[in-house]
Amino acid sequence: MLLELHKIEKSFNDQPILRGVSLQITPGEIVALLGPSGCGKTTLLRIIAGLEEPSSGNLLFKGEELAEMPVHERGFGLVFQDYALFPPKDVAGNIEFGLRMLGWDAEKRAIRVGQVLELVGLSGFEGREIHELSGGEQQRVALARSLAPSPRLLLLDEPMGSLDRALRDRLMRELGAILKEAGGMLDRPEGITAVFVTHDQEEAFAVADRIFVMNAGLIEQEGTPAILYRKPKNVFVARFLGMENIIKGKVVNLEPPRVSTSFGEFLISPGPCDIGQHVTLLIRPEAAKLHIPVIDSYTEIRAILANISFRGRYQDVTFEIAIDESTRLSLKFDFNTDVSLPHPDTEVTLYLDPASTIVLED
Ligand code: ATP
Repeated sequence: MLLELHKIEKSFNDQPILRGVSLQITPGEIVALLGPSGCGKTTLLRIIAGLEEPSSGNLLFKGEELAEMPVHERGFGLVFQDYALFPPKDVAGNIEFGLRMLGWDAEKRAIRVGQVLELVGLSGFEGREIHELSGGEQQRVALARSLAPSPRLLLLDEPMGSLDRALRDRLMRELGAILKEAGGMLDRPEGITAVFVTHDQEEAFAVADRIFVMNAGLIEQEGTPAILYRKPKNVFVARFLGMENIIKGKVVNLEPPRVSTSFGEFLISPGPCDIGQHVTLLIRPEAAKLHIPVIDSYTEIRAILANISFRGRYQDVTFEIAIDESTRLSLKFDFNTDVSLPHPDTEVTLYLDPASTIVLED
């Protein structure tokens, strides 16, 4: 294990901010701390960096207690949202500053500067002034600077927070690849191990090998992006990952498992439940078809198509089921852009895949 946190707690002014966080990170992993504003992500990252002391709990790096180790001896790289480059120095000057502090000679520094600039796609930028660079380029230089000394662990706080959407999307796709590739070039064959903080689930999904979803100072769920998407544990995680179709109901049949709700009965994916149990259902956004699907069993419901929102590769479509004035349900489903949809206000039959209809913890 590279990094182990045991029951980390932190209070500011008697206000508990972290309430017992335990996690383990293996060498070469890219891990995201994902959660809403104020849940304690940055505080946790700062504790790992050594910029903040925990109120209680242990941190181990390769089995060694970190508590007494000052920031500069940890050998961790830090990248923050505002990238804090040093404008009077050019790109090379910014990147090699840390290497100089570590006593690297000029030749070795120049080689490493070339390597990390190549990694981030800025070969030849050595002599550029910082103010001549775009926001995205500055962010890459900050990343190159933090990678240059081949950090034992890289910590990134909202690394793409200040970039516009298009640039974020591009850097998101590239960051994971850069970190994996960096390992080989920087003598860390297992890859660079990184922990990054974000409140953007798309960013976490795109970059991380594993995600820790945090809420109010605790980890709600951890898992690979695929596992979190397929099996969000509870309502908080599901909503935070952008899933909205959540309905309460009662288990009325086990084989096949079926849940009765105010809006009809839903077939669900098999899992431990008992007849009569009250449950919360999540219907994932890809669950719905407008034509009878090839699978044997599915839930069939009538709904009014209320709204279509074009999202590029897919369409985000809202349906409404109204039993009476006070009993209404909105459901949102994704359809590929090539699926032709009826006009809004048309009543349709939706066919829902039970495999995408799961039970959540409350
Ligand atoms: P964001 O996404 O908004 O940055 P976060 O999840 O990273 O949020 P933190 O920055 O860890 O959250 O802050 C968690 C809580 O701790 C906040 O309520 C914040 O005000 C409080 N806090 C953080 N640092 C301090 C401090 N030095 N003194 C007092 N309170 C603090």
